[in-house]
Formats: sequence, C-alpha cells, structure tokens
Amino acid sequence: MIHINKKYVYILPNNKTLFIRSEAIEKMLKYRQNKLRSLEAGGILIGRILIENGHYIIDDVSEPMPTDKRSRYRFSRKPEGHQEYFNTIWERENGCCFYLGEWHTHPEYVPTPSSVDRKDWNRLVRLKFENDILFFVIVGIKEIKVWYGDLNEREIIELKRRDFVG
Ligand SMILES: [Zn+2]
Repeated sequence: MIHINKKYVYILPNNKTLFIRSEAIEKMLKYRQNKLRSLEAGGILIGRILIENGHYIIDDVSEPMPTDKRSRYRFSRKPEGHQEYFNTIWERENGCCFYLGEWHTHPEYVPTPSSVDRKDWNRLVRLKFENDILFFVIVGIKEIKVWYGDLNEREIIELKRRDFVG
C-alpha cells in the first residue's frame, strides 16, 4: 500500500524548499472555515532561512487578534498583537527568526486568492524586509495553498506541494 506522508513541503522556482512545521499547520487548521458561521482568520508567518542551503522553514504563526476585522469573506489584519507576538518569539530565539509573510483562511475547498488578496500581496512585495522573499498562505477547507512573492522581481508565484511517497 502506498502511504503518502502529509508533510507540508513546497518547491520554490529555484528548487529550494519551504517546509511548514506541523505546529504551525495545526494552529492554522484550527481556523479552517468548515462551518457555515466560521469567519475568516489569519496572522503572520514566522520562520527561518537555513544558512547552509537557503531553504525556508515556517516555525510558527500568529493567530487572529481582537482588533483584526473578521467576516465570512474578509480578513483584515491589524498590527496590534501580531507585532507583540513576533517580538516575544524574536526574543526567545535570540533574533534568529524572521517575518516571512501572511496567512488567512477562505471558506472554499481549494482556495484561490481574491482581487483584494492580490492587491495586498502586490503591496507587500514592494516594501522592504530583511529577506527578499515572502510567503502567502491560504487555508481552504480541503487544501492549504502557498504563494511566494519575490521582492526583487516583484512577482507572485503559486508553489507546488511535494508529496512524499514511501
Ligand atoms: Zn483571501
């Protein structure tokens, strides 16, 4: 029998990889919009870039904060709470973590970015960050999809997920 390992590994266009730790996946999946009344949720992605090989890891995510605007089809993240959460992790990790992008949920099985999402992402890839790559995660009901934004090329590309067979 073929067993597909449900690891969340995505391949970048330059063949580097993004690995999302299961702790981060579980936090995001708590907000999956699998009920009619569930509202969109979101937060920031926090992680590391492995110096040896340039691969990316998302270790943790922030969760919705009271000031965020949440509705069935819209999530608007405010800085309050998310920044403090990042600072706490940053201090705990002695500065060895980065802001790596944004995540939010969609009430659809396989998520596709809305025009508002595209606009937000396009704005973000034109800003300055410590690293020149950002990730954008949308958690659908059945699938988690990841896009990556290249801050030098200012382009946004959907990443393919790698399935492990074995
Ligand atoms: Zn969206």
